[in-house]
Amino acid sequence: MLLDVRDLHVRYGRVHAVRGITLTLGAGQVVAVVGANGAGKSSLLRAILGIEKTSGGSVGYDGTDITRWSASERVKNGLVLVPEGRRIVMTLTVHENLLMGAFNRRLDAAVHSEIDGIYDRFPNLAARRDRLASVLSGGEQQMLAIGRALLAAPRVMMLDEPSLGLSPILSAEVFEHIASLGRDRNIAVLLVEQNTQRALELADHAYVIELGRVVSQGPAEQLLSDHKLIDAYLGHGEAKAGHSEQQRPVR
Ligand code: ATP
Repeated sequence: MLLDVRDLHVRYGRVHAVRGITLTLGAGQVVAVVGANGAGKSSLLRAILGIEKTSGGSVGYDGTDITRWSASERVKNGLVLVPEGRRIVMTLTVHENLLMGAFNRRLDAAVHSEIDGIYDRFPNLAARRDRLASVLSGGEQQMLAIGRALLAAPRVMMLDEPSLGLSPILSAEVFEHIASLGRDRNIAVLLVEQNTQRALELADHAYVIELGRVVSQGPAEQLLSDHKLIDAYLGHGEAKAGHSEQQRPVR
């Protein structure tokens, strides 16, 4: 397993946000973590990246226990996070934002050719490479955030709510790009999403979390068809199977 999270705990004072979560992610796999607001999803990703202190459990990465590694060591080794809210620097250009993604590398020909590859992948970014990031639409900002994370040469990309605030059309586009990470680049994806339907359509495997615990897990397809589970734990209108004909699966 590329990522092997065991019995992980995160506490904020008296708030026990992550209560013994165990999950695994294989190379090139897309795994979704779904659950309501406050379930502990962001805390889980931040703890896996090493920017949130854990109070128990372990994180294994490619066969090594990295629980005590710093976040920057994790990033250097290919474990990256596209955080909620994207964290684009609005006062820098699109190109400068991309260069920031390669902060831990020498800016050599390989980096520049990867940036060209990102522009090929995201033509909207290429067209605006010298414009300030603030002119980008929400979807374009999300693509910039993904492009920037790609420059860290990830083996595991964690994405926190990539569709937040996007229109259905833009989020479909972003989801299509996320699908292609696993399919074309063998990057394993750990995806946190409140758009349960889309996340389950995209993922190979999924975990449902509630109040910091895994309450269900399995092949995403199976969870998608489990109406009882969807109603009990997710309760989002868009997650109902009856909507699937209107929302074309992304792959
Ligand atoms: P959302 O989808 O709303 O972002 P989430 O599933 O990502 O929710 P978290 O943001 O991980 O959930 O929050 C889990 C719990 O921990 C919540 O009760 C939240 O209020 C609490 N929490 C999160 N961050 C902190 C913090 N820095 N200090 C105190 N409590 C926190």
